[in-house]
Amino acid sequence: MQSSFDFLDLLADAESLQVLLVACPDGLVVLDEAENIVLYTGSSEAIFGFAPVELLGRHASLLFGDAQSYKHFQDRLRSEGRVVNLEVMATRLDSPPFAAAVSAASLRDRWGAAAGTVMYVRDHTKVRAIEEALRQNNRRLNDLVRTLNHVAQHDQLTGMLYRGSAIEAAEAAMLASGFSQSPFGVALFDLDHFKSVNDSYGHLVGDEVLATLSGVLRQAARGDDIVGRFGGEEFIAFLPGADLRAVTGFAERVRLAIGEACVRVAEDQTISVAVSAGVASIPTCAATLEDAIRIADDRLLSAKRQGRNRVVANDDAQEQTAA
Ligand code: GH3
Ligand code: MG
Ligand code: MG
Repeated sequence: MQSSFDFLDLLADAESLQVLLVACPDGLVVLDEAENIVLYTGSSEAIFGFAPVELLGRHASLLFGDAQSYKHFQDRLRSEGRVVNLEVMATRLDSPPFAAAVSAASLRDRWGAAAGTVMYVRDHTKVRAIEEALRQNNRRLNDLVRTLNHVAQHDQLTGMLYRGSAIEAAEAAMLASGFSQSPFGVALFDLDHFKSVNDSYGHLVGDEVLATLSGVLRQAARGDDIVGRFGGEEFIAFLPGADLRAVTGFAERVRLAIGEACVRVAEDQTISVAVSAGVASIPTCAATLEDAIRIADDRLLSAKRQGRNRVVANDDAQEQTAA
């Protein structure tokens, strides 16, 4: 069945046209060619707060919260003939400027001459508030992820990387160096007779000893070195660029510093502890990080067997560094 609806007829009918304009939820504003306001709907009034009589015949720049927003709008409209959802600052009666999205198009008369502008304005205050809330939530989420990552990678007592994370960091350091000819040192430390510290003075003192060793290790380490807690009272250090001699010197310095560090166990009593270490380096002792750690571990066991409080840098018992 043929519809009798004629849209052009409808547009020519003033009442129907008003229904169309009023039904638009956005603020609808029409400007003449001099950019003065000639049409200002009820939805516009709800957005800008001004009564039609306050604005009709006045310049469109009054609707914009600042000169910059108005200029931006004009420039875009002139260069592109229309703008879609352009974010600007708009004016509201008795309120500070607010964020608005403006869509607009230039109107032409039947001969193609510039006849004015039609603008649709949408209050973006809520959108901005939601965007800001989302940004804040994202920031909080990112902080939380960073904290969780840190907690997952670091031991709470010593603040050091856990074994897996330390090894990952070492692998990354080796990758970054492009597996160059530059050596890579590994030192594994284990406190001597640590169980007896716990048994004699309690676990809190034991914890303090662990914190002391981690502090000594951190101090001995240089910028690129990676230190981590390998296990209960075992610590690991990865030294990029360190050959066997350098990593042995490092472990020896740590051993001596640990021997000198005192932990207070009572008002008038301090104790000191000793540490054993096994060291290895790539490429002299091993080709891979895994092998270097295994060899350092074997040498650590060897240091224990040979009487503790020493650094072992060689598989040959004759060549170890004696305490
Ligand atoms: P060795 O010289 O052969 O290494 O002897 P050790 O007593 O140091 O070694 P052992 O493996 O017998 O004991 C290690 C102790 O470390 C046992 C365990 O309770 C303690 N330990 C592990 N983690 C912690 C910790 O986080 N805090 C405290 N206080 N003690 C810990
Ligand atoms: Mg141990
Ligand atoms: Mg031990």
